[in-house]
Amino acid sequence: MSAPNKSFDPVEVSTLAPEYLAERVSEAIAAITAAQSLDELKEVRLAHTGDRSPLALANREIGALPPAAKAEAGKRMGEARGSVNQALAARTADLEVARDAALLLEEAVDVTTVSSTPLQGGRHPLTTIQEQISDVFIALGYSVAEGPEVESEWFNFDALNIAPDHPARTMQDTFFIGSENSGLVLRTHTSPVQIRSMLTRTPPIYVICPGRVFRTDELDATHSPVFHQVEALVIDKGITMADLKGTLNHFAQAMFGAGIVTRLRPSYFPFTEPSAEVDLQCFVCRGNSIDNPAEPCRTCRSEGWIEWGGCGMVNPKVLIACGIDPDEYSGFAFGMGLERTLMFRHGITDMRDMVEGDVRFTRAFGLGI
Ligand SMILES: [Zn+2]
Repeated sequence: MSAPNKSFDPVEVSTLAPEYLAERVSEAIAAITAAQSLDELKEVRLAHTGDRSPLALANREIGALPPAAKAEAGKRMGEARGSVNQALAARTADLEVARDAALLLEEAVDVTTVSSTPLQGGRHPLTTIQEQISDVFIALGYSVAEGPEVESEWFNFDALNIAPDHPARTMQDTFFIGSENSGLVLRTHTSPVQIRSMLTRTPPIYVICPGRVFRTDELDATHSPVFHQVEALVIDKGITMADLKGTLNHFAQAMFGAGIVTRLRPSYFPFTEPSAEVDLQCFVCRGNSIDNPAEPCRTCRSEGWIEWGGCGMVNPKVLIACGIDPDEYSGFAFGMGLERTLMFRHGITDMRDMVEGDVRFTRAFGLGI
């Protein structure tokens, strides 16, 4: 730092002379203009406005001036620094715009370029729906039960109160493993899993059994020799048809939307008594298409209800066959076809789409969780 100025004239301090300052400002502005990147500009900023820059060093001299001279020198210094800072700010803004533009250009994606990513398939909707259904029931405290696809006749028929002379027990309807007397079949429904559950668990029993079943049908638009079912079984004290109805309604709403209800129609199954068919309220028109030709519904054919599955209270004979006292426990069971559920839920008109494994079909469902 210079010695105190005795002449009261700031011009005599050479670093505060107007010409000197004007030159430093010109140098700084020239360097700022020449900077081609924000990094370069940072160097320029340090050199021309930093602590060791000529302007900063000159600024220090002001303190040594007599008070009368300080004001004018300070004003001059302020103007000089202001010019440099203004030029810096303007150049910074220009270079930032240029950087952003370059970045956009660099990261631009040509959406017309042919992709080399291999086509991915999708999870099969039958897998997805089985998981969705399992989730609904797991949330209610059920567990998922599984059983073998090659099943003994006793589990598949006898234990379910299906008489030996029942037509289902012929090769006309059922795939036998080996001869008709082998006692082994490809299971024709998931109900044997219910029997296995009753034999291996002690009540209360709350299980859901999704799985693959087999019947000797030709593959056509509405039949397949291999298809999927899901069945539920509940055995507990004091279970009534009201519990069955409430569970079915909850299931329907979880799958088809709030407010959807089910309807029971009297029916007959050997393993339940009483038995009922389960109809689902049409989730598209919600019954508004009935007797309303102005607004027909394709999903329910304007009937307001869709046949969904079968259900009933577990036949006491089945409970006895599984060693459960029907005087102490009661239960309900219901089951439905998954292909059929998927078909009306998604407007699929041909069963073959679901078994042919064409990726163009499954990909449409692949985005669903
Ligand atoms: Zn409808």
